[in-house]
Amino acid sequence: MQTAPSKVQHFIGGSFCASENGAWIERENPATGEPLRLVARGGASEVQRAICAAEKAATPWAATSASERSRVLLRIADGIDAALEALALAESEDTGKPLSLARSLDIPRAAANFRFFATAILHETGESYRTETPQHALNYVLRKPIGIVGCISPWNLPLYLFSWKIAPALAAGNVVIGKPSELAPMTASMLCEIASRAGLPAGVLNVVHGLGGEAGHAIVSHSQTKAISFTGGTATGAAIATVAAPAFKKLSLELGGKNPTIICADADLTVAMPEIVRSAFLNQGQICLCGSRILVHQSRLAEFMAQFTAHVSGLRVGDPLESESDLGSLVSNEHRAKVQALVQSGIDDGAKIVMGGNAPIRLSSRVARGAFMHPTILLAPPQESRCVQEEIFGPVVTVQSFDRHADAVRLANGTRYGLAATIWTRDLSRAHRMASALDAGIVWVNCWLLRDLRTPFGGTKDSGVGREGGTEALRFFTEQTNVCIATGAQL
Ligand code: NAD
Repeated sequence: MQTAPSKVQHFIGGSFCASENGAWIERENPATGEPLRLVARGGASEVQRAICAAEKAATPWAATSASERSRVLLRIADGIDAALEALALAESEDTGKPLSLARSLDIPRAAANFRFFATAILHETGESYRTETPQHALNYVLRKPIGIVGCISPWNLPLYLFSWKIAPALAAGNVVIGKPSELAPMTASMLCEIASRAGLPAGVLNVVHGLGGEAGHAIVSHSQTKAISFTGGTATGAAIATVAAPAFKKLSLELGGKNPTIICADADLTVAMPEIVRSAFLNQGQICLCGSRILVHQSRLAEFMAQFTAHVSGLRVGDPLESESDLGSLVSNEHRAKVQALVQSGIDDGAKIVMGGNAPIRLSSRVARGAFMHPTILLAPPQESRCVQEEIFGPVVTVQSFDRHADAVRLANGTRYGLAATIWTRDLSRAHRMASALDAGIVWVNCWLLRDLRTPFGGTKDSGVGREGGTEALRFFTEQTNVCIATGAQL
């Protein structure tokens, strides 16, 4: 029997509410095709209400001591841990990702984000400078919360990325208007309830649901949002910048990626292979950091393809709720059609399809109408092909070969993106040389997605502006005032 879709409401001033005009967005479960949620479709009036609630909460929250803010955020982290199963199920239902992945990656990381920033603010140090010319003086730098900040996040790692913004914003003493993706909104709402129970005062965290061009645009364009932290597609980032930049808002943009995985002549393939497969297909390839362009030294290509295809053919695509499923469904049938069109463009450009594509998948009846797709390997596409140049954001990798390691760097740098790159080699000197020559905000050597939350995270070129993580995030969410005190030279 089909169950009624659950309603996802806004959270404004500490209470859940529907939109003023009663509008909803219908969202289906991408794995089953069944109606799943009715998502409140907010716009300018809901954002205005959220701004009013945030304005009331801003001064008291900014005046709350760091140790008290830390305690509240730690309780939120505990609340996320306690709700692990319910949050993981909601994440899996909204996105189609395997429940096991949501349980082991998405939700634990959301709790870790809160714990990390809750404790980071207890150990902050400040800058000071002694000046000797033209006069003796002491400078010190004050860091203050910005006030009301907008946090807008995508659907692929919903709570993981939403909390990656909200936790530092709240820790630094700001009040937040958040907007999760309309495709995966549920865990953001559940987080509001957890935060409220943890003692976060009303109005400090507000969530307005809805479409990007409506609720998202209203957040970005409102004169009272002083900073926008955005994660999503490059085209959306550009649209947001055109609205926010002329209003001199602080902007952090974490955008798309087309990340190379470089297999050097001396790579240890036995060690590397499970990680190369994981980096290509984790979350159905829908992670901005996925290694979607594999570059292999010509001398290892045959061996690489034999091992890679053997591993990939062992991946199971199926019902996200079944523990044996390595890949679940893509986020929607529309997205799958876009992914398949890019695969076709690669074939049209001369790539050989080694595995996947439109091949039929054996699925249980519960998920027979879902947006599933086989892991797909395209061999030897030309560098200028759209399948190499554009972010596919699905379970698709291209494999190209190179003769000299300098050519690998040239191919790796030959797209508009510059988010991440992975190098597999036993020669650490080469790894250092390559890492410094790659256009990437993050370079992994002999590992992938190994994250230390203190390190700067973000991309170069069309992959974004600014860095998240550690002190970078706390700096983004604060304004600085330099205080200069003339001290005189004589005792
Ligand atoms: P998207 O750009 O379509 O949407 C992201 C968010 O922006 C959503 O909440 C959406 O409603 C909102 N939005 C859309 N238009 C808007 C507008 N005009 N004004 C304000 N908000 C607007 O991205 P998506 O499809 O949800 O996510 C996939 C993309 O995100 C991929 O390109 C992926 O690479 C990128 N991504 C990047 C990172 C990173 O850290 N660099 C991480 C995850 C995902």
